[in-house]
Amino acid sequence: SPLIARPRAPRALSVSFEFFPPKTDRMRDQLWDCLRQLEPLEPSFVSVTYGAGGSTRERTHETVARIAADTTMKPAAHLTCVEATRAEVNAVAQAYWQAGVRHVVALRGDPPTLGGAYVPHPGGYAYALDLVKGLRDVADFEISVAAYPEVHPQARSAAEDLDNLKRKIDAGATRAISQYFFDVDSYRRFMDRVLAAGISVPVVPGILPVGNFQTVLKFSNACGTRVPKWMHELFAGLENDPETHRMVAATLAAEQCLSLFEDGVDCFHFYTLNRADLVRAVCHMLGLRPAAIPTASRLAPDQGAGTIA
Ligand code: FAD
Repeated sequence: SPLIARPRAPRALSVSFEFFPPKTDRMRDQLWDCLRQLEPLEPSFVSVTYGAGGSTRERTHETVARIAADTTMKPAAHLTCVEATRAEVNAVAQAYWQAGVRHVVALRGDPPTLGGAYVPHPGGYAYALDLVKGLRDVADFEISVAAYPEVHPQARSAAEDLDNLKRKIDAGATRAISQYFFDVDSYRRFMDRVLAAGISVPVVPGILPVGNFQTVLKFSNACGTRVPKWMHELFAGLENDPETHRMVAATLAAEQCLSLFEDGVDCFHFYTLNRADLVRAVCHMLGLRPAAIPTASRLAPDQGAGTIA
């Protein structure tokens, strides 16, 4: 049977969603509409990014604090080392804790100019590893870190990059979230190396449904994600056809997830870009249903499961 139709009911699936903090009132409304649409999928957490150089410090804080106060979802706040002293970073973390945020995604961060060289702040945390260690002295946070199936572009070697991940885990992170990838085999090969290195925490695949192929191309170049040739062919000619683009994007992301699910993967992290439609479609194809709506497998036969099957 096709991947999409294979029975998957008994295995628990866990999903998490990533958002960026809104810049304008209109974007805030859009984000909250998106959050409310995704909330019934009962994500294990929702994370909010931290702009380059701390440029979104207040907006990230405001967003995670409101998620903590006003929704049923658990927020995770991203935090970076860029252009800040240790005391400044610690103060941001403390404010998260005071707002009820218990989970931090600890990152080195990128320089404010895309593609610029990273220079650690003289009085700051130099790398994500240092931030993970520093956070432990601030409060008892749950800490997630980043992982790179296709190797971080500034890493001296794949082996050193993996060693860096292991050190972040050994320092107290309990989960890694992967950079997005399109070549599912690159994640599989990476996971073989992760396990061989003795890393036993979840390394959750980061899934990016392609909202706009041209934007993804530009961004992938900067962050080291390979865009396979077949993707160029898949999206060719869809520049002015957003409807078809959307359907292709949802199908592609669902196929990625379903293929990983067949391998035994049961946690997925979605880069939502503050849009609910693609992520909802993919989650639906994975078999996730909003909390209030029973799945076919939960229905008794006389309630219609037979007609669905
Ligand atoms: P690190 O783990 O510190 O590694 C960075 C690089 O330095 C790697 O190449 C590593 O191998 C190398 N390295 C580590 N230690 C040393 C050392 N001692 N000497 C020399 N090299 C070393 N960016 C943002 O600005 N805001 C966000 O909110 C954000 N969210 C993200 C979420 C996820 C899930 C991911 C995957 C990335 C995110 N990023 C974000 C991007 C991230 O900040 C960049 O990829 C950044 O370049 C690396 O961050 P890191 O935490 O992986 O760094």
